Amino acid sequence: MMRFYNTLTKKKEEFRPIKEGVVGLYTCGPTVYDLAHIGNFRAYVFEDLLHRYLEYRRFKVIRVMNITDVDDKTIRGSQKEGVSLREFTDRYISAFLEDMEKLRLKKPDYLPRATEHIQEMVSLIKVLLQKGYAYRRDGSIYFSISKFTSYGALSGIDLSEIKPGVRVDVDEYEKEDVRDFALWKEAKEGVYWDTEIGRGRPGWHIECSAMSMKYLGETFDIHTGGIDNIFPHHENEIAQSEAATGKKFVNYWLHCAHLLVNNEKMSKSKGNFYTLRDILNKGYNPVAIRYLLLSTHYRDPLNFTEKSLIQAENTIKNYNAFYQALDFCKTDKTDNRSVKDEIEKARELFIKGLDDDLNISLALSGIFNLMRTVNISIADGSLGIKDASEVKRFLEEVDGVMAVIDREKAELTEEEKGMIKEREQARKNRDFKRADEIREALKNKGIVLEDTSYGTRWKKD
Ligand code: AMP
Ligand code: ZN
Repeated sequence: MMRFYNTLTKKKEEFRPIKEGVVGLYTCGPTVYDLAHIGNFRAYVFEDLLHRYLEYRRFKVIRVMNITDVDDKTIRGSQKEGVSLREFTDRYISAFLEDMEKLRLKKPDYLPRATEHIQEMVSLIKVLLQKGYAYRRDGSIYFSISKFTSYGALSGIDLSEIKPGVRVDVDEYEKEDVRDFALWKEAKEGVYWDTEIGRGRPGWHIECSAMSMKYLGETFDIHTGGIDNIFPHHENEIAQSEAATGKKFVNYWLHCAHLLVNNEKMSKSKGNFYTLRDILNKGYNPVAIRYLLLSTHYRDPLNFTEKSLIQAENTIKNYNAFYQALDFCKTDKTDNRSVKDEIEKARELFIKGLDDDLNISLALSGIFNLMRTVNISIADGSLGIKDASEVKRFLEEVDGVMAVIDREKAELTEEEKGMIKEREQARKNRDFKRADEIREALKNKGIVLEDTSYGTRWKKD
């Protein structure tokens, strides 16, 4: 049984999808005015873990991630450069997709762009006007939060702060501002669309209501984001959607805590951020970032330091070395009961942990225990081929969720295999000069040899 902490009810709840075996999952995606920073990627890595684990638990996941390609910041950025909004945002969408790939983030089934869903937003705003939840002022259209009686249920915002009829036009605003927000902004020049509700452009919040409901239905299973999205963005998504449909919008709201730097939120506005490229330029492995972001529970704040990144890189190296070492078990001793038991224990902890609101520490503890015991039998040569391949299969199974092992690294080319054989022969012939030459040549290819009493092992660095 899977349980998730639901921000809406402030409780861990058993997860029951609307339709058996299928999960509708919506993720607030990037605003494409610049490169995403690794704080943003904390949210996307957590969502990737959720996505992959739901699949591991045999759910079919339908995942939607929107792309905010029109808002105050994207318009400002494109105008500053004197390029079209499309050209400007295309550039950052490509960069985002590249970063996603480097971090091994699964591509959502749908990546809808706000600018391609203006009609859906207009239709939704029309319903809100008809039902009396929205009103026009100076050519723009606002949502009247005092009309939506359960406003504030997600964020627990202090409703005594509501200022009826006081409006906010900017896309991002502060927690104290409990005000009517813009659904549609009048625009006579610059970026606008001519529509049935006038000439203008959408506010930020309406896009997520329109696009999530288009692809996932009026009520769907899970909506995610970082905690900074709870208010006002997600609160407003609920208000718009539920006011329009009269139905519950989302059953489970999951939010991740922030990535911090010196205990402050990593953010563009504070300037205390690193993009993925900044970190790769320093020579770090992108998978180490993935692992660092993944290995802390998503609801715990995570303070980013270079030291923790180095530790993550070392852990990844250990995983890879372990995975590769499993190929060197030569003993054909079969069926070691204790290895099978260890695998079973590790699998149980993996599932028990992740089932419990994605408790990653518990999930990882089983894998670490398994690695520790199996490493001992690898070192003393007692691990049988069959057991080794079962451990390998288990690692591949859990790596479908973790995605941190370099499986292709465990393969050598025929030429490389030939070199190792030749070196073994040279050593038998006591031709140590030739053996050393080959060792050096392989080292230059990133393959490190280790001679043990059970033969020569290699690992790729
Ligand atoms: P934005 O492009 O600002 O809308 O942010 C995209 C996603 O990143 C949202 O889900 C945010 O909640 C999330 N986010 C932004 N900064 C951080 C941070 N420092 N730590 C974790 N998530 C963040
Ligand atoms: Zn959103």
